[in-house]
Amino acid sequence: MKLHVDHIKDVPVSVHIDEPVSVFPLLADMQHDANCHITGNILGDLTVTREYENIRVTGRISAPLALSCSRCLADYTSFIDTNFTIFFRKESSISAVSDDELELGEMDLLSSAYSGDEIDLTHEIEEQVAMEIPLKPLCNDDCKGLCHTCGIDLNTSTCSCGAESTSLKFSALKDFKVIQ
Ligand SMILES: [Zn+2]
Ligand SMILES: [Zn+2]
Repeated sequence: MKLHVDHIKDVPVSVHIDEPVSVFPLLADMQHDANCHITGNILGDLTVTREYENIRVTGRISAPLALSCSRCLADYTSFIDTNFTIFFRKESSISAVSDDELELGEMDLLSSAYSGDEIDLTHEIEEQVAMEIPLKPLCNDDCKGLCHTCGIDLNTSTCSCGAESTSLKFSALKDFKVIQ
């Protein structure tokens, strides 16, 4: 996924991405994680614009996911769909362009350096995808999870463990009062 900087002139260039996970070392590595798999190609539509010697890449990346809920362990599917902007500064110009000359807020953008005639987008794209993969996947924000005592799925069933622990707390309080 290399951009040839010399091919990017005054007109923005569109780049379509449709690549298997195996192309991205970081993502290929994450496929070993039992809780999350990327189940299809990484898709993207990027616009590459030249700004003097620097290159701005804006776009959208998506990927389908198969996840395992961290609370109830149910398998579910989801997808990543993320917008981003990365600003590639030509290496030799970094010292020449002072931070003051950049637009307000520009330093907050993801920025990266490039040298020579090529920009390899592979790493930047895989980082965007990796950032969007949830560390603690949830099938639903309101997932009730499994009962810590009996292991029953509290989304689909109810158990009496919760009621018992409440009454235990209550009887402990009663004993305390008796001792007083
Ligand atoms: Zn769940
Ligand atoms: Zn229970």
